[in-house]
Amino acid sequence: MNKMKCTRCKAEAFIKLESHNTKFCDDCFDLFFLNAVKKALKSFGFTQPDDSVTLVTAVSGGKDSLAAWDALRRLGYKTVGLHLDLGNDDFTAASIKAIEDFADPRGLEYRLFSLKDLFGYTLPQIDRLTRRDTCAVCGSLKRGLLNRAAKDAGGDIIVTGHHLDDEAGRLLGNLVRNRTEYLDRFYPYLPSAHPNQAGRMKPLYRVDQIEIRHYCRIHGIKPAGGDCPFSKGATSRYFQESLHWLEDKMPGTKRDFLFTYLAKRKPPEGPLDFGSCQTCGQPTWGDSCGVCNLRARLDAKVEKLGGLPDLSLDRREIGKLIKESRS
Ligand code: AMP
Ligand code: ZN
Repeated sequence: MNKMKCTRCKAEAFIKLESHNTKFCDDCFDLFFLNAVKKALKSFGFTQPDDSVTLVTAVSGGKDSLAAWDALRRLGYKTVGLHLDLGNDDFTAASIKAIEDFADPRGLEYRLFSLKDLFGYTLPQIDRLTRRDTCAVCGSLKRGLLNRAAKDAGGDIIVTGHHLDDEAGRLLGNLVRNRTEYLDRFYPYLPSAHPNQAGRMKPLYRVDQIEIRHYCRIHGIKPAGGDCPFSKGATSRYFQESLHWLEDKMPGTKRDFLFTYLAKRKPPEGPLDFGSCQTCGQPTWGDSCGVCNLRARLDAKVEKLGGLPDLSLDRREIGKLIKESRS
C-alpha cells in the first residue's frame, strides 16, 4: 500500500485533513495545530503571552480541555487548571486521575473544587431533585461556579475546550431557533462584562474533534474515557451530527459556516448592564443569580423530604415523596 506523504515536508503523513485538502506528518500537524490556536488567540487580541494575565483553564479531564491547556502552555501562556468535581463517583475519579497524569509530569498548577462544597449538592443528588435536564442544569452550574472559582484563583479569563464542532453546532442551533439574544453575543471570546465576571475564551474554536484527538495522541495526552452518566440531551448532538453529514459530502462546510459568520463580527464589548446577585455577588439580570435560585429550590425540597435524597430512588419516586409531604 502506498504511504501518504506530508503535503508540507513530504515525510510520511499520518493524518489526512479533507477540509484543508492536506496530509500531515506529526511534526507538521503539530505546527498546524499550534498555528490554529495562535490564530484564535490573535483574533481575541492576544498576540503574545503576557505574564500579568493568567489563563484559568477549566479542565474536565477530557481530550478537549487537556489539549487546550497543553497548547497554551506550549505557546508560553501562564495557566492554571481548574476542575470542578461533580461528585460523579467513578466518572469523577477517572477525570481527576487524567488531570493529575497530565499536569504533574509537566509541572502545571491546578486546583480542584467540589460541587458539594461550593453548592451543597453533588450532581447525582441534583439529578434526583430536579425535573429539568440534568445536563443543562450542570452546564449553568459549571458556568457560574467556575466563574467564582476562577475569580478566587486570581484569574481574569476562563479557557474552555469548546472546539469547531461545538461552536458550529451551537451556531446552527441558535440560527434554526432564531435565538437572537444568544446570536448577538455569539463569539469565541467574551471579555468580562461585570467586575465579578471573568472573560471567557475558546482557543480551540478553529480545530475539530478529529484534530484534537490526533494532537492528544502525538503528545501522549491520555484523557479520561467514557461519557458522563448524565450526558447531553440529544438536541445539541443533532445539530453537530447534521453538520458532520454536510462536512462528509462537502469537506470544509463546517469551517466555512462558522468562520464566515464570525468574520463579520467582533468580540462583544463590555460592560453589560448587569446587576449583582444579592446573595453571592455574581452577575445577574435579576436580584438573585441562577445558582442561588437553584440552591434555594433544592434546599426547600430537601426540607420537605426531611434530608438529602436516597440515591437508590429515581427522580419520579423522589418527586412523589415531595408531593406527598405537601399534603
Ligand atoms: P462540556 O460541557 O462537558 O462539553 O464541557 C465543555 C468545556 O467545559 C470543557 O472543554 C472544559 O473546558 C469545561 N468543563 C467541563 N466540565 C468541567 C469540570 N467538571 N470542571 C472544569 N471544567 C469543565
Ligand atoms: Zn447568587
